[in-house]
Amino acid sequence: MEYLAHAGQFANATMAAAFSPQAHLYGADLYTGTDPSSLNFLEKAWMNWYLWWGNPVIATGVMSFLMHEIVYFGRAIPFVIIDSMPSMRKYKLQEDRVATPELQWKCTRDVLFAHFTVELPQIWSFHPICEFFEMSTHSVPFPHWTKMAWQIGLFFLFEDMFHYWAHRALHWGPLYKNIHKKHHEFSAPFGLAAEYAHPLEVFILGSGTIGGPFLLCYLTRDLHILTVYIWITLRLFQAIDAHSGYDFPISMHNWIPFWAGADHHDYHHQAFVGCYSTSFRWWDHVMGTDLGYKRHRSRQADQKAEVKAQGLEWPNKAPTKTSTGQPLKTKVQ
Ligand SMILES: [Zn+2]
Ligand SMILES: [Zn+2]
Repeated sequence: MEYLAHAGQFANATMAAAFSPQAHLYGADLYTGTDPSSLNFLEKAWMNWYLWWGNPVIATGVMSFLMHEIVYFGRAIPFVIIDSMPSMRKYKLQEDRVATPELQWKCTRDVLFAHFTVELPQIWSFHPICEFFEMSTHSVPFPHWTKMAWQIGLFFLFEDMFHYWAHRALHWGPLYKNIHKKHHEFSAPFGLAAEYAHPLEVFILGSGTIGGPFLLCYLTRDLHILTVYIWITLRLFQAIDAHSGYDFPISMHNWIPFWAGADHHDYHHQAFVGCYSTSFRWWDHVMGTDLGYKRHRSRQADQKAEVKAQGLEWPNKAPTKTSTGQPLKTKVQ
């Protein structure tokens, strides 16, 4: 409680600083020498955001927190709706499991609690760390989109490699028992469960997401925070999609064969071993940690073909268990 009280005092002090006239003068200083007429609409909006807050630490902190909440829940809520639609069950990877509203609500409460108690106090250190690595934050104009694209491509490659090894390490006995077990509570995951994890796991695996940008920034001194935001948005989309529990005909792995998607990560939750990577399939393929997955999917394809050959609709049985593997109390069509 004392910690929360300190956090409150800090927030009050920083809010007061943000609204003080001096802070606005400081804000104006940020754009000395910038010609607003040379900026596009988004760049002007970016500049106005920083000028309005007057304090770049708060402007970056608030933007980071809001972006995370909007993207996370904005991407996960469509899957909550899909989970309530019986017609979507034919695309569910574990068709015998149901993400009940009770479990989804329990997960949402836990994720929100972590966002407000673990993430929010830390977010104020984000801008100073970016400054330390000389990342561009408030500055406009933005970099050219081609530069953003190759930098984001590198972040994807780095994060996938980092995640493969760190996640595999988290499956080692003591680390699994004390840290990673929580994330595996849902053996049939759903979108909201992407960040359902022990705070230490969020820190360890989050290092792969933010470590790439800091490393690139350290080496090149040429990275804008907007590129990092776009990267984090895409990474959140990837994580929520991977936990959604659905493989649709339009899902990315059906047209990009090396993309992992839910088809890959859902098996990890189902089997508790194998398929350790996030975005791509190559690490598991090269290290032979996807053999169980390949066998399982081939068996599942045979079962579907058999049901269809009998002229029946897939799935031909009603679900019997919840996302945690408990027997389902209410009958579902
Ligand atoms: Zn795992
Ligand atoms: Zn997972």
